[in-house]
Amino acid sequence: MQTKNPTCSFCGKDKSEALLLIAGTNGHICESCVEQANDIVLKELKGGETESTDSFKLPENITPNYIKAYLDEYIIGQNDAKKYLSVAVYNHYKRLKYNLNEGDIEIEKSNILFVGETGTGKTLLAKTIARFLDVPFAIVDATVFTEAGYVGEDVESMLSRLLQVCDYDVDAAQRGIVYIDEIDKIARKSDNPSITRDVSGEGVQQALLKMLEGTEVNVPPQGGRKHPEQKLINVNTKNILFICGGAFDGIEKIISKRLNTHVIGFNNKLKESIQNEEDAILSKVIHHDIKRFGLIPELLGRLPVLTYLKSLTLDIMTLILQEPKNALLKQYIKLFELEGITLTFEKEAIEFIASQAMDFGLGARGLRSICEEVLTDAMFTLPSDETTKEFKITKEYAQKQLSSSKFSQLKVA
Ligand code: ADP
Repeated sequence: MQTKNPTCSFCGKDKSEALLLIAGTNGHICESCVEQANDIVLKELKGGETESTDSFKLPENITPNYIKAYLDEYIIGQNDAKKYLSVAVYNHYKRLKYNLNEGDIEIEKSNILFVGETGTGKTLLAKTIARFLDVPFAIVDATVFTEAGYVGEDVESMLSRLLQVCDYDVDAAQRGIVYIDEIDKIARKSDNPSITRDVSGEGVQQALLKMLEGTEVNVPPQGGRKHPEQKLINVNTKNILFICGGAFDGIEKIISKRLNTHVIGFNNKLKESIQNEEDAILSKVIHHDIKRFGLIPELLGRLPVLTYLKSLTLDIMTLILQEPKNALLKQYIKLFELEGITLTFEKEAIEFIASQAMDFGLGARGLRSICEEVLTDAMFTLPSDETTKEFKITKEYAQKQLSSSKFSQLKVA
């Protein structure tokens, strides 16, 4: 006997019309009915909610320790920064989960300020925490902002960025994380603000105040200036966590002056020991030093959590290449594995790559470009070479690849 062609039990579409028919005990459902049913379920569930944040669930049984352990999988070292970040994020989302800011005791936001050289992992920390929490995350550069009315972007445009990454889901954006990079570049230029208009410095700091604290902002969906014809989206920043980062070049001098110690005598000191000394001084950074650097006290008041990131040593750079869950070398090994080739790195080659990155002075950011230079030839030829099943990167090979590349002329003094 011939069985009847299955049809969707909800809309009647038969197998040839539907992309997918899922079979149940007594019938079938097609992909569009699944989607519709899902919408109905979401709508029904949302109907019972009073606050948009209720739909957000901090993973159960999370502790700051647990958050730090997650960060450890992706970021090498920077224990102080990880600890501060874990506690701040834990408190921020606890405040959100229990809606504590509506009760008698108002728990304030714990926006964070990272101080640390370029390429030490500031952005990576912020990005990793956002992934852990599964909340929208946007990176913005403070240097593009100017005071409203001047050429440049209004600070509101950072919220456009956040809205864009979550497909304009306002509820999701309102509990997201914004990383503001290069916050040190909007430091007040001079002690006397009346001499010239400081539209990209103090003016921007002023504009950031309300946003960091929590306010209703009308955001142009596509970013840029507010054009009258653009329909603005209202976003409340009360529960958005802001993480700011900057290198604050020269802050060590301000700190040591306060501590009444001498910074670094360059005579005959090894680079490494100068670095250690700088790190030791940086670890003492307090809000007062940042104020001296040129951030206004009102803004600092809205960035209560202040922590620093150490500059990266050769050992740490070597670990960064190999240890994190998605470490660079692991990525290349995987890429070659997909071609059926076993890629290995000699210990000396790894140290060589790390030392080259140190020389470039770009922090761990330099590692990627150096690895690309070392491996591009191999990645170009090996896929069409049927005979090679194993490939080893030795120090000599890495040296040869780099010396014939553009990098050989690029060393930073
Ligand atoms: P920053 O924001 O401090 O300038 P990033 O976080 O953008 O630096 O770091 C640049 C890249 O260097 C990151 O993508 C990451 O791969 C790597 N990196 C930097 N610091 C670390 C670290 N401590 N552990 C692991 N990777 C790191």
